[in-house]
Amino acid sequence: MSTLFGKIIRREIPADIVYEDELCLAFRDINPQAPTHVLIIPKQEMAKLADAKAADQALLGHLMLAANQIARQLGVENAFRLVVNNGAEAGQSVFHLHVHLLAGRPFHWPPG
Ligand code: AMP
Repeated sequence: MSTLFGKIIRREIPADIVYEDELCLAFRDINPQAPTHVLIIPKQEMAKLADAKAADQALLGHLMLAANQIARQLGVENAFRLVVNNGAEAGQSVFHLHVHLLAGRPFHWPPG
């Protein structure tokens, strides 16, 4: 795995890990955009959501259910937002698929 998230999975660089299971890892964003800002990443390498194949269906569902579990664990299950930036023009800066879990402040629509 070539990105810094791969290094976090391999414990080569530190992270504030809040959840881990056999398929995914979740840790606090280093530059939080909300009082709760967690990144949920698959352990399997996938650069971006658009690269997902039919065979990844269960993994992608797993990330959603992990988000639910983490939201409950952190006490924000009543109001949270999930964001996946796909591609640099959409704001993606780390090319290892990740789901942003944001909570703890009001969120506006449409998003910026
Ligand atoms: P994105 O812009 O959607 O690719 O999101 C990448 C996120 O990774 C940003 O919100 C960054 O703040 C976050 N980030 C970058 N480096 C680290 C790190 N070492 N530990 C935790 N989060 C990071």
